[in-house]
Amino acid sequence: VKSSTVLGIDIGATKVRVAPVPPKGEPGKAATFAVPAGAGPGQLADIIAEHAASLGKKHQFDAAGAGVPGHIANDRRTLLYAPNLNWRDVPFAELLESKLSLPVVLENDVNAAALGEHRFGAGRGAGHLICIFVGTGIGGGIICAGELVRGATGNAAEIGHMLFRPGGRVCNCGRRGCAEAYAGGFHISARYGELAGREGLNPGQILELARGGDENASRVIEDACQALVTLAVNLQTAFDAQKIVLGGGVMDNAKELFEKVREGVSTWLTGNWKSQVQIVASELGPDAGVLGAAALARGIL
Ligand SMILES: [Zn+2]
Repeated sequence: VKSSTVLGIDIGATKVRVAPVPPKGEPGKAATFAVPAGAGPGQLADIIAEHAASLGKKHQFDAAGAGVPGHIANDRRTLLYAPNLNWRDVPFAELLESKLSLPVVLENDVNAAALGEHRFGAGRGAGHLICIFVGTGIGGGIICAGELVRGATGNAAEIGHMLFRPGGRVCNCGRRGCAEAYAGGFHISARYGELAGREGLNPGQILELARGGDENASRVIEDACQALVTLAVNLQTAFDAQKIVLGGGVMDNAKELFEKVREGVSTWLTGNWKSQVQIVASELGPDAGVLGAAALARGIL
């Protein structure tokens, strides 16, 4: 059964991507659709099942894996809390199993993306891997000896909330000074708005203003880089990885930010933490999540 095709499902706050994934990991044609505003778990499971049925005309699926934007219990069957969907305590694996008639495993969406990069993307061959994804927020995934690090409660690798400047800016989690409050896309834009009185610019535009000598933009970008470099260096010091993968929408669309962070990390790492680590850009883009979810599905066959 390990050679069969599985279904990879990547549920984001606004979009869902569903794709058939054969064993070698090259995903078949994916279906992408918007999450209806205010959708409940049952409604979303129904829509996923419709798309799976249309994809399934060409494929026979043996299992499904789903990345979900929230906190997944360590049984990987229960969604404890998904803030962006406003769902709490949902037995979502059971729900999907009843609609899809397939065994289902759940994982946090960012952990799934990290696993995708590990198995099929920029992290291939690295049994010890750190993934840092910078989008609206900052998410991460850590692979240790080939396995995702989930922690005692499934909350490991929530790296955007690692402390960067104690008592600093208020993060979306309510605490002051998380790395995300300086380097998440939302906060890069918000902070520039506060300093310069110009709202609504995206990180790429702010990077360009910094290049043109705008002092507020330079300050925002320098602090974002410092937060990301601090994160990466501290994670590498803790986990001694072979590769650090940097990705996510903000990083993918701002090559200069990637280069600045890579340079900073290599400046501040020393000794063995530095000599054997490669810092690379993510390769899979929007397919990372479905591929990682599919790898987990294969694991339950
Ligand atoms: Zn936080």
